[in-house]
Parts: sequence; C-alpha cells; structure tokens
Amino acid sequence: MDDNTGSGVLAAVAAELADVWAHLLRSEVQDLETAEGLVRERLLAIGAQLLEAGLAVRGTGKTGPRHACACGAEGCFVGYRTKEIQTVVGWITVRRAYYTCRACGTGQCPLDTTLGLARDSLSPGVRRLSARLGALLPFAEAAATLAATSQGQLSASTVRTVTQRVGARCEQALATEIAAAWTQGGPVVPTPPPERLYVAMDGVRILSTDGTGREVKVGVVVPVRVTPAGERRAAASYAAGLEPAVCFGSAPGAGGASPWPGRGRAGRGPRRWRGVDLAVGGRALPPGHPDRRLVPRQ
Ligand SMILES: [Zn+2]
Repeated sequence: MDDNTGSGVLAAVAAELADVWAHLLRSEVQDLETAEGLVRERLLAIGAQLLEAGLAVRGTGKTGPRHACACGAEGCFVGYRTKEIQTVVGWITVRRAYYTCRACGTGQCPLDTTLGLARDSLSPGVRRLSARLGALLPFAEAAATLAATSQGQLSASTVRTVTQRVGARCEQALATEIAAAWTQGGPVVPTPPPERLYVAMDGVRILSTDGTGREVKVGVVVPVRVTPAGERRAAASYAAGLEPAVCFGSAPGAGGASPWPGRGRAGRGPRRWRGVDLAVGGRALPPGHPDRRLVPRQ
C-alpha cells in the first residue's frame, strides 16, 4: 500500500472505528446481543473496505500491452473491467486489466487467476464456506447458515452448484490419491503398525430422490493389539463411498480375491469380518501382494 493511499484508508478506518465506539456508548445499546451485532456488522464493513483498498493498491494484474493466451498466441490489453465480488466480509469491487486474443477471440483478466476468481461472483473464502456448509446441510439451510455466519448471500441453487463443483474436484483428488496408494503404497506412518487389523466391508442400497438406487460401500478397519490378557482394539476407521466394489478396495494380502462376500448374505455380519495379521510395516500393500506375512484370517 503506498503511503498516500494507505494513510487515507487508515484515516477512514479510524473514523469508522471512532463512530462504532460512539455507538457502543449510546444508551440504546444496553444488551450484549445488540452490542455484539453492532460491532460485528461494522467491523465486517471495515474489513470489506480494507480488502477492497488493499487489492486496488496491489494492482490490476496488468502485465504490459500483451499477455500470453492459453492458445499460444498473445492477448492485447484493451482496458479495465470491474467485478463485484462477494467475500466473507461483504461485497467488494475489483478493477482488473482485460486482454483479448485476436487469434482465438478469448478475453481474460490475469488478475482473476492470481486472486482465484471464477466466472461467478464468489471469493475463494465464500466458495469454500458455501461448499462446506452445502456438504453438511440441505442447500437451503446451508444458504441460510452462510448468511447468518458471514456476509455471503447465496441462493440455495448457487450453494448446490458450488458444492457439487468443489465436491467433484475433491473426489478427483481423492481418486488420484487412492490410485497412487494402490500402486505405490500409502504414506509411511510414524507410529508402529498394529499387530492385527480387522477389516470389514459391506454395501447398502439407497434410493435416490428420483427413485433410482445406488449402493453405498462402507468399510471399517479396526487395529488390534494382542496382549496376554487378550485383544485390545483401538478406535475404528470408517470409509464410505458411492463406488463400484472394484474401486472401493481389494482384499489386502488375499491374493487379489474380492473382499466382498457376495450379495444376499446380509445378516451374517461376523462372517464378513476378516482379520489380517500385519507385520510388514505401516504401508498399505497393493492388491494381490505376495507377502505371506500378511495373512487373511477367516
Ligand atoms: Zn488466444
């Protein structure tokens, strides 16, 4: 922030704070709820003011008369475009340099990439909050909760769009991680591996709102320590996913045999439990691993 702009913004913020202080001391602000609501609203507004001014001072993303285009050609600077953005502290306006490419006709604002802006009007913070709430709550409730806990005002359908988009990216990242774990082994854990694991997997069919059914695969892993007094079980880990069985997991150390006991065996819970003596370190083994020290127990 340069000195002139910086001192101007800070002076405005100081005046706003003095006004908040004066309001707090007024007789009509007697209860804590009113006082905290007042302070929250005003400080969020000050935050939006600071954010907008700070971004403006940091620049418009102008890189000169030309900017590289994804097509391989170069875009030409044609002017500035403003964009209204919803942030967790309120709406702000950002001014961005705009380039158009004559070769492919695409327009772009390099600052959007720097700031993590997409075509919508959401800041990365609002997008993340929205997706998190959308994953936990029905979309209308998520939108209401977002509005109550931040300055984000989104419709239920926008929350759904954001949640599904972010969820698809998370699923893709998880799928990549899982694929890597099956071929290269999981990350080495710093703690000694458990002596035995109990692993169980099952599927349950659920009906979607459109009447179609999908099977949810559910897995549980229980590490066990064998002591002279008997087995001591540690906390279980659970996993679930809308995946076909082949994606959800292969039988560890079972020579590639399916971990799935087959349909129609519901109610035979204990038979689905599979014990695995683990003495090969803290790595997940790829399917069909020949290591004989990893022995399935029936
Ligand atoms: Zn281009």
